[in-house]
Amino acid sequence: MKFTRRHFLKNSLFLGGALLLSPISPHAGQRKEIRWIPAYEKLEMEGKLVQRIKQAYAIFENCHLCPRRCGVNRQRGEKGFCRAPVKPVIFSHHPHFGEEMSLVGEKGSGTIFFSNCNLRCVFCQNWPISHEGRGKEIGDEELADMMLHLQKMGCHNINLVTPTHVMPNILCAIRTALKKGLHIPLVYNTSGYERFEVLKLLDGIVDIYLPDMKYMDAEKAAKYSAGACDYPEVTRKAIVEMHRQVGVLKLDKQGIAIRGVIIRHLVMPNRVAGTEKLVKWVAETLPKSTYVNIMAQYRVEYKAYDHPEIARGITAQEFLEAVDLAEKYGLINLDPQSVALRNFYRHRRSN
Ligand code: SF4
Repeated sequence: MKFTRRHFLKNSLFLGGALLLSPISPHAGQRKEIRWIPAYEKLEMEGKLVQRIKQAYAIFENCHLCPRRCGVNRQRGEKGFCRAPVKPVIFSHHPHFGEEMSLVGEKGSGTIFFSNCNLRCVFCQNWPISHEGRGKEIGDEELADMMLHLQKMGCHNINLVTPTHVMPNILCAIRTALKKGLHIPLVYNTSGYERFEVLKLLDGIVDIYLPDMKYMDAEKAAKYSAGACDYPEVTRKAIVEMHRQVGVLKLDKQGIAIRGVIIRHLVMPNRVAGTEKLVKWVAETLPKSTYVNIMAQYRVEYKAYDHPEIARGITAQEFLEAVDLAEKYGLINLDPQSVALRNFYRHRRSN
């Protein structure tokens, strides 16, 4: 075949293009690592965050932020079941080292504890904060500064504890903080008692959902969480939506969580939490690789003493059974600390 000038130019262009796209490009060593971008920053770049804030704030006028749907006008100072004012009340904000390892890393999870709660369980460990609303009322600007302060301290994320009733304030603060340089993942640390329709507003804002799944039985939910008999149904729907938005948990190269769902399930005495039903439901509804933290730290708190069924700590046997059930139903991404604790109890029993 005759090799013409045209062939030469064509082959040269092809080779040049290939070198530019090739992983062994001579410039590969100088290539900048792509910065991870939080969900809320992407939404702001698309020009959609401001609209979401407006939509969220409108809900305050006839509050239906959560499944209690009180219908009060919080903008005018009316209070509903959660007793929360329109401004957020903060109990504390600090790096927290008691969360899942992938949230804590080396520098801690940047936790902000919001006072008041829309669920109000009789066994609540934070009852002075959630039931009595102890804390300081602040503005959205100050909330933004708290987020930036936590980031400056090196925290790996902003962990919003009990955020449901102050979601509009959070969105507003996030936008302000973003403009001042916030760039770490947002963790929505919730009781799970969330309206599916309201969660839609958080699509593209939250990076990590951290919902509880407390009960699978309507009667138990009503008895121990102030009449919330719809908790199992509502929370199942909410978790499916959370999973649709962010998927299974993803970690960065350092093992720090950047996106996804972590389900927390507190084992309760006398199988009150319905662990078997819960792990079966997760295994049948979500990927088997869904991160599930089976928690052993139930303790008798607040008004739990008045209910004989839950007026004791859990036994080692109850915890062993719960983790074993999760494995039996095929869940493959259990919290490593829960698994280690289960193994410890097993080892102790066999000796
Ligand atoms: S957030 Fe509070 S006021 Fe609003 S619906 Fe829920 S419990 Fe009622």
